Amino acid sequence: MIGTKALTFLRIAGTALWWLLVLSPLCAVNARAAAEEQVDIATTGDYYSLGGHLVYLADPGKKLSASDIVARADQLAWTQAADAIPNLGLQAPPHWFMIRLGNSSQQDWSGLLEMSYTMIDVLDVYIEHRQELVKVAEVGDQRPFSNRLLAHRNFLVPITVPAGDSVRILMLGESAGALKFPLDLWHIPAFFQHDQRTLAPQILFVGLMLALALYNFFLLLATRDWNYFWYVLSIVSISFVVMSFHGILAQYVWPETPALNNPVLVASISTNIFAATIFAYSFLDLKRFPKWLGGLFLGHSAAGVLVFVLNLMLPYGTTIKLAALFSVTGATLGICTGAWLWYRGEILARFYTLAWFLLLAGSVAITFSHMGYLPSILIFTHGQQIGAVAEGLLLSFALAYRINMERQQRFQAQAQLLKLQTETNQLLEKKVQERTAELQEANRKLQESSATDGLTQVKNRYFFDEKLTHEWLKNSRANSQISLLMIDGDHFKSINDNYGHLCGDAVLKHVAALFNTSVNRAGDFVARYGGEEFTILLCHTDLFGAATVAERIRKKVENTLLEWEGKKISFTISIGVANQIPSRDSDPKSLLQDADSALYKAKHAGRNRVMLFTRKTTANGTVTDIIPFQ
Ligand code: GH3
Ligand code: MG
Ligand code: MG
Repeated sequence: MIGTKALTFLRIAGTALWWLLVLSPLCAVNARAAAEEQVDIATTGDYYSLGGHLVYLADPGKKLSASDIVARADQLAWTQAADAIPNLGLQAPPHWFMIRLGNSSQQDWSGLLEMSYTMIDVLDVYIEHRQELVKVAEVGDQRPFSNRLLAHRNFLVPITVPAGDSVRILMLGESAGALKFPLDLWHIPAFFQHDQRTLAPQILFVGLMLALALYNFFLLLATRDWNYFWYVLSIVSISFVVMSFHGILAQYVWPETPALNNPVLVASISTNIFAATIFAYSFLDLKRFPKWLGGLFLGHSAAGVLVFVLNLMLPYGTTIKLAALFSVTGATLGICTGAWLWYRGEILARFYTLAWFLLLAGSVAITFSHMGYLPSILIFTHGQQIGAVAEGLLLSFALAYRINMERQQRFQAQAQLLKLQTETNQLLEKKVQERTAELQEANRKLQESSATDGLTQVKNRYFFDEKLTHEWLKNSRANSQISLLMIDGDHFKSINDNYGHLCGDAVLKHVAALFNTSVNRAGDFVARYGGEEFTILLCHTDLFGAATVAERIRKKVENTLLEWEGKKISFTISIGVANQIPSRDSDPKSLLQDADSALYKAKHAGRNRVMLFTRKTTANGTVTDIIPFQ
């Protein structure tokens, strides 16, 4: 939505623009009735602006002839020009302009009369000297270039005023476009100096615009970006408009086909309206805004096309007015929209608005300079060219800036995407790690539960077998010995029988806890081998060490009574101890068998004791024996 502040701003900007473009030239049509004026050449110097000294007279239908005018000059209702450049506006009928040049000096005076508004359709120039009337020129942009007395982009007429005498200059001007009449008097050397200075900027203008158009055309080929196409078209068309205004096309391009001048001007203006509004639409990316705004721009470009087509059918007088109208509304629309977007903080709109402003400022400068409000210095008199070049340069820069901006946005988007991807990957990795840790934990718990005996909470037989195989291999590499304690409860059946099965379970838990507290070296562990049988694996432990542990355990069990339902229950165990240095060829089962044999012996020897399975290497081979622990 447009805020009230912005609306006020737009209103002021629009009104100001309208005033500058439309009302200001009309202000020039502000004249007073007057008699013919005489300018004394002896006092004018090298250059003199005659425009403000002209008197003029409308002659609708061209009923008057030059001789009629000369004969009745004093009776006709002449109007005195009010401005340095009389401007009779767009719909003016043919007008007669008159001025008398006197020479109060003692010498004849020769110089040039220059009429620099070359878009006038028809200009007839007469000189009257001592009742003798001579038509000296029939020029205008509807007449061939070769009609000109001097081959120059402006209309030049050599003038001689004899010493102490005077001549009257009478001119008939007619134009379907604006009827402006900038008339200057020059001393010849001064004119040539001035001409050198003014021709250079014209050529520079054409050169610069051509270079800009070509350069951007190549960019169009390279980038295939349509903005460049609209830009090139608007640069070429505005160049044609400016060159038409300054008579460059009529002089250099089609000097003998004056009929082209007017249609080409309208075609150039309408093409410019078309291209400049499409350019604005695309460059400012107006698709983003409500449809009516884009519609105004596209409507203007359609109007440009319409005027271009009408130009082929309707008279110049009609089409130039339409072209002028849509130029003004299009420029107003462009600069107001640009200013509004600038106000909203859009960087590209800044370039666009500044570019338009420079072109308009140039056009206003030239108008004001013609009207005498600004001095006739180069920067003002060539304001339009300077403005057009500045606009072209700024927009060309803006296009490059836009490409750079888009590239940066693309890089940023890529970087963001990459960042997002990395973050997603990291998140995913974290999730995977968390999931893996959870799974590992669950697995560990599962393994633990599957490796643990439910009643006694020591390792179960499955775990013991796995662990024994593992330790066997490990110690076979390290050449380190392993000891095994095989434990069986004495007369356990009778505990069950006397106190009940639950008591038997409690005894099993009780002794398992005692076993657990009796082995504390890393790698040692207790397992329930089955029923009331337990195993204890002691790595890196020799037979004597293992037997010592076994005896300590046996004593502990014997001496630790279990309280069960108010009764003290005593209980003993028998232990078989075996020891081996594992080798790759041997089987861990042999260790189990050895321990089991020792246990069997312990039972038979009276229970509640530790028996050791020993092995001795003699000359006859290995001798085994089972002996009690002393
Ligand atoms: P011995 O001194 O010869 O070993 O005599 P024993 O009675 O202990 O004989 P044996 O070792 O052959 O008997 C084991 C008994 O242990 C058999 C069974 O009733 C009992 N038993 C096995 N597992 C459990 C158990 O989980 N809970 C209980 N309460 N008793 C069990
Ligand atoms: Mg048993
Ligand atoms: Mg037993």
